[in-house]
Amino acid sequence: MTAPALSVVVPCFNEQEVLPEFHPRLAAAMDGIGLPWEVVYVNDGSRDGTLALMEALAARDGRVAVLNLSRNFGKEIALTAGLDHAACTDAVIVIDADLQDPPEVIPRLVEAARGGFDVAYAQRSVRHGEGWLKKATAAGFYRVMSRLGGRVQLPRDTGDFRLMSRRALDALLAMREQHRFMKGLFAWVGFPAVAVPYERAPRAAGETKWNWWKLWNLSLEGITSFTVGPLKLATYLGLAVSVVALAYLAQLLFRTAFFGNPVAGYPSLMAVVLFLGGVQMMMLGVIGEYLGRVFNETKARPLYFVERHIPSAAHQQVAQRRAS
Ligand code: UDP
Ligand code: MG
Repeated sequence: MTAPALSVVVPCFNEQEVLPEFHPRLAAAMDGIGLPWEVVYVNDGSRDGTLALMEALAARDGRVAVLNLSRNFGKEIALTAGLDHAACTDAVIVIDADLQDPPEVIPRLVEAARGGFDVAYAQRSVRHGEGWLKKATAAGFYRVMSRLGGRVQLPRDTGDFRLMSRRALDALLAMREQHRFMKGLFAWVGFPAVAVPYERAPRAAGETKWNWWKLWNLSLEGITSFTVGPLKLATYLGLAVSVVALAYLAQLLFRTAFFGNPVAGYPSLMAVVLFLGGVQMMMLGVIGEYLGRVFNETKARPLYFVERHIPSAAHQQVAQRRAS
């Protein structure tokens, strides 16, 4: 047995409802490709029977690797942990456990990558089971990101579902920052990439781990870990407000000198003071977001801790051969 050509990395948090359905579908899709493969299931501190299910799968199927993290670290870090432990020689595939990304698309990703691409990312053509508000906010987010992105552009309607060549994976893993907005990191790495359109299914079972607050935070993470655009925004907004205020002041001085000032301008004063106070607080907030991230990065902590690692059989044999 040789090292697997392909590794599939699946981050899982409370996915006991879908895993029993996910694995057979994944195995069927992967077997159709005809290359040796393994799957790395990452248990991201689930509070249900997810880990037991994974271990049962690993006991039955030598192609299954299990990585149990010491607690819940969030999807981005769970994904990184899985990628760190992927044994593949050729390419890695990243997929969600909830069957929103159909495993049947994987052979098409492999096929697309064979055309000489390092990255084949699945691009949603239709989003089933998502309300108009979620679609609209997602669209707004992508628009803001593409404005701020400069030369690193995020592909539209693309999640983490993708294939990466070994060298693209190694490049990605060289970036060890704490604030891991994976879509941004994927894009930053570069390499020739190709889009593979697919229809995104609604979640098969279980519930989404994202609520509006988490999505808002993910967007903030995306913007602040991806670009310093908002810091520039602070500069220009501050500049614009000062210019307007100066013009207003000049006009006021002129009027008072030549025509006198009949009314004490309490309301306008209040308005200006509140406006400037608000702008300043907002800009401090922007700076705070970045400062907080600098703070977290300077601690330079490990990204995660592994409670247990069961490598796939193929990986084990490779490791043994390396050791002897
Ligand atoms: N996930 C994870 N850790 C978390 C939250 C989610 O590993 O803290 C996994 C989850 O099990 C799933 C994937 O990340 O496989 C995507 O999560 P979800 O389906 O809830 O997100 P959505 O598809 O709604 O964006
Ligand atoms: Mg999902």
